[in-house]
Amino acid sequence: MAVIGIDLGTTNSLAAVWKDGKSVLIPNRLGACLTPSVVTEAEGAVWVGTVAREKRLAYPRQSAASFKRLMGTEQKLYLGDKGYTPQELSAVVLRQLKQDAEEFLGEAVDEAVISVPAYFNDEQRYATRQAGLLAGLKVERLVNEPSAAALACHNLHSQEDETFLVIDFGGGTLDVSVVACFDQIVEILAVAGDNHLGGDDFDQRIAEHFCREHGIGQDTLNPRQWLTLLQSAEQCKRLLTEKEGAMMEWEGPEGKMGLILSRDDLIRICAPLFKRLEAVVQKALRDASSDAIDRIVLVGGTCRMPVIRQYIRHFMNIAPMTEDHPDEIVAKGAAVYAGIKERREEIKDLLLTDICPFTMGIGVRDPSSQDLLLSPVIERNCVLPFSREQSYTPCTDTQDHVMIHIFQGESMHCSENLFLGTLHLDMPPASSGSRFVKVRFTYDINGILEAEAVNHAGMKARKRIVNSHIRMSDEELEERIIHLKNLNYISREEEQTEYLLARGDRLYRECLGRDRDVVQNNSQLLRSLMDKKNPAKLRAARRQVEPVFDYLEEKLGLEKLI
Ligand code: AMP
Repeated sequence: MAVIGIDLGTTNSLAAVWKDGKSVLIPNRLGACLTPSVVTEAEGAVWVGTVAREKRLAYPRQSAASFKRLMGTEQKLYLGDKGYTPQELSAVVLRQLKQDAEEFLGEAVDEAVISVPAYFNDEQRYATRQAGLLAGLKVERLVNEPSAAALACHNLHSQEDETFLVIDFGGGTLDVSVVACFDQIVEILAVAGDNHLGGDDFDQRIAEHFCREHGIGQDTLNPRQWLTLLQSAEQCKRLLTEKEGAMMEWEGPEGKMGLILSRDDLIRICAPLFKRLEAVVQKALRDASSDAIDRIVLVGGTCRMPVIRQYIRHFMNIAPMTEDHPDEIVAKGAAVYAGIKERREEIKDLLLTDICPFTMGIGVRDPSSQDLLLSPVIERNCVLPFSREQSYTPCTDTQDHVMIHIFQGESMHCSENLFLGTLHLDMPPASSGSRFVKVRFTYDINGILEAEAVNHAGMKARKRIVNSHIRMSDEELEERIIHLKNLNYISREEEQTEYLLARGDRLYRECLGRDRDVVQNNSQLLRSLMDKKNPAKLRAARRQVEPVFDYLEEKLGLEKLI
């Protein structure tokens, strides 16, 4: 059974596998490598990916997207009136990637290495593994996205030592890492990131700017209108990747509206986002104590924007390299990691050393203010796996137990950090001043923390810090697995037909005259055969319709829907 690598992205997800000495991307049922991370439950079925993304326009309340941003929280997302956790929706996407991989490889796939943003905390990591479980995938290893990118960019055959900066700027998150490569070792020196900064923020700012320019109150727009406005903003952003200027068009309640934007406008509107990007890069460089960067590798869809590349070149003084397909690198790296895990010949000696990107500590009472202050046990950017012990004395000689509160974060004040859990330890009496508690934190290679406390009498308390509120019992997990398995998923065949129909709908909107008739006739042909449930004829019709739509899309200069 094969182990695959998965990049479970905010906007798109991809799978890859180590095959014939290299990472190979796995095409989905529509022949594309990117599967939009969108789920729609409509027309009596569950849709995932490209068609789900198209159906989302018609059914915004029955669709969910960008759920990765909510991973590890209890927040439910609704497909109509049915609530799903972010990990359940992720599982629906993972399930589809697993099936596509099985189809591509011709064998069962029951294990995956999934990439996560380096800045994902324990709750988010736990939720990601749970999503795998819910999809029927064993997830023994998570790999940090920038580390996966580093693995993919590391030249296996190069003898040269080098230090590079990986800037992974996706739809919802930014991760920056400083990586040193020597011999067969890829060492992550430092990572920094922003969990809430990505391409979606640029769309949002452009959409807000559009509203301002047209005097539209954002709160007057319904969800569908806001969604279509965001889509127009995204389209405009993408056009600005191709050209210096672009026209943003939007069909509002009062008809079609337009706005011309230039790259300079984009820089102005999004200035605070550029500043946030710069601050994260500077933090990573500071933490790595390294300013001798040999190259900069840009990863993630947002790095396609020339204004981002320009900005990075300006403040780093090095021209960044952009791979041909920056959005495929993380998945390829996850496949390298899967290959290492399987001990595949070409990479079995390759070693990735990763780090813990945040500080972990316990709360200690400040005697003057009674404030709970952070006492770091493991500081950020220590190499994984890592273990460290700190000794503490109880506040009073008489207390019969201690409660050790565990936090993650960089703030001095515990209230501003993420609370991870509590260890309770009894404190038997002993002579004055001889009582102590030793707290040991051990961080494993998946970025999961284990805390242990031992007192002067040798009594121990131990806890593996996994989140309490999103944790499910085995029965609950089993019940949700069955529930997700039994959803009415659309078949591959139906999805391929729906995909063509979605392309037809868009073409119809875009073209005029005879071309419109051609689109309509072809779409009608597909619809009539769908109703008759004649798979062979439908397949033949798809083969006939596809080149027609290809031709028209090319004629109109439309980007592929995928
Ligand atoms: P990722 O999460 O890496 O798939 O990145 C998705 C983000 O990249 C989304 O915000 C997209 O709008 C953005 N993106 C993808 N392609 C382009 C492009 N050609 N120009 C600008 N942004 C893009």
